Amino acid sequence: MMRVGLGWDVHRLVAGRPFLLGGVALESERGERGHSDGDVLSHAVIDALLGAAGLGDIGEHFPPGDPAFKDADSLALLGAAFALVNRAGWRLVNLDCVVVCEEPKLLPYREKIRASLAKTLNVPPAEVSVKGKTAEGLGDVGAGAAVEALAICLLEKIEKTEKTEKKEKKEQ
Ligand SMILES: [Zn+2]
Repeated sequence: MMRVGLGWDVHRLVAGRPFLLGGVALESERGERGHSDGDVLSHAVIDALLGAAGLGDIGEHFPPGDPAFKDADSLALLGAAFALVNRAGWRLVNLDCVVVCEEPKLLPYREKIRASLAKTLNVPPAEVSVKGKTAEGLGDVGAGAAVEALAICLLEKIEKTEKTEKKEKKEQ
């Protein structure tokens, strides 16, 4: 069985914050404001994965007001969310993402971001795509006041072989 999931997120860009995408720090005078570290891409990917697995959303698992998640490492949250998805019997087939911001340019960081997400999600980097876009100067994103991320993923149910089923029965 296959399931598709969609995630979206937006964060304000402010001075004195790191600009993080998929756990990779981009050189920038401004970065994402947020209760956590503000990593907009990791947040969109979390929602895509949870959505595909039918496990709710990021706010349910990592409440934004919770002191435990103050300045939290969002890539670690992504790892925790993916562990839940795994435990529910799903593996990632592929992930496709779009990051929309005026600057900095994404291209110099793209391979690093793909590798970081792929490592966290236990797939080869070839199964993770990250694309950068600008908003052509339109709206808050176009004015450089915000960054947006979209993610779509495909999950596949892990088929249990007869051998693993027998082993599980034995262990019970
Ligand atoms: Zn967010």
